[in-house]
Amino acid sequence: MKTRDPNIAYQLLRHEIDRDTRPQFNLATFVSTYMEPEVTRLITESLPKNFVDSKAYPVSSQIEARCLRILADMYHAPREGNVDPVGVSTVGSSEAIMLAVLALKTKWAIRQDTSQINHRRPNLIISSAAQVCWKKAARYFEVDLQYVPCSNDRFVLDPLQAVNLTNDDTIGTTYTGEYEDVKAVNDLLVERDLKIPIHVDAASGGFVAPFISPELEWDFRLERVSSINVSGHKYGFVYAGIGWALWRSKDELPNDLIFHLSYLGAAQASFTLNFSKSSSHVIAQYYLFIRLGRMGYYNILRQIIAVASHLTRSLHNIGFLVLSKADGVHGIPVVAFRLNPKYRIGFDEFGLANMLDKRGWHVPAYNMAEGAANITLLRVVCRMDFTLTHCEHFIADVKSILLEET
Ligand SMILES: *Cc1c(COP(=O)(O)O)cnc(C)c1O
Repeated sequence: MKTRDPNIAYQLLRHEIDRDTRPQFNLATFVSTYMEPEVTRLITESLPKNFVDSKAYPVSSQIEARCLRILADMYHAPREGNVDPVGVSTVGSSEAIMLAVLALKTKWAIRQDTSQINHRRPNLIISSAAQVCWKKAARYFEVDLQYVPCSNDRFVLDPLQAVNLTNDDTIGTTYTGEYEDVKAVNDLLVERDLKIPIHVDAASGGFVAPFISPELEWDFRLERVSSINVSGHKYGFVYAGIGWALWRSKDELPNDLIFHLSYLGAAQASFTLNFSKSSSHVIAQYYLFIRLGRMGYYNILRQIIAVASHLTRSLHNIGFLVLSKADGVHGIPVVAFRLNPKYRIGFDEFGLANMLDKRGWHVPAYNMAEGAANITLLRVVCRMDFTLTHCEHFIADVKSILLEET
């Protein structure tokens, strides 16, 4: 390693990282690719603060607590006597899900007869379309997964199949992605008097449904919902990485998991997988809450949904089969589409993704989850910076590929 002038080091790196896809053209990701200059300034200014050092930076912790109160209200957490909500900021939904799985597993272990515990393994029931972090959590924390398969006309979990899979060692059922029918599962569990908790993976939907479909019951209004995760860096509009984990009450979060420490100069409780992180993202999340308010989130989401509807209509008119319901009412503003097998063209969805890539657009092609794996899809995640104009450019490029290549 040699010493360089800062300007030279900057230029060297700048030229190299410019080879990455421009984030605005990355239509694969849910993660925010735009933030206002005011908040990026706050982020930069807060980078030197280590969030975990709450003695030195008490305001950062207070801001986290305020964010948690806002989220707990959004998700209708019961707040008897105005007790503080039970939750924590994380690096993303993955960390939040790991914590939720640990809480479910620990609660299960407490319920077990200690003489039997070595012979039994807890299980979780999830959709075969669940995000990869569930597989990680299961492997890291030794929990069995039972999959409820998708089918060619159902890409979400079948509530009856899910509940039928439960047994004495079921520590929870989980939901992912596009508006699963949490209420149906909750009601079946209640009807059959099964004391099985539900964790809702609301990574993206947790910042869409409360604004667009406030009447949709999927959160702590349902009695079996014990914990919820959400990514602040998806439709919460913060850059990566921030997520949140919330529990219905203290009873859902076993004390064993909370570490009490004092060596940073104050007594504090710690329940995260990692320790140090910058305060920036928590502060950025709070900026968005005070900047946008409920109405601001609603208005931005409406715009995103309008673009998603426009894209859906245009792709349909071009001749694609659109499989998503990107209306914010049935699902998040994600447009999933495939080539109509009726038309014989010389390439498949993977080929189209490659050709889009050459034009600068990063759009993934992939096979659906188990049960519907014969279906290949392309997927565009509509975000704040995927404006109508940007969308028009995208549609024009898709059209020109179809004209040139067929
Ligand atoms: C994105 C996502 C995750 C993982 O979230 P990160 O915030 O990226 O860790 C988990 N579950 C679902 C449904 C997701 O969409």
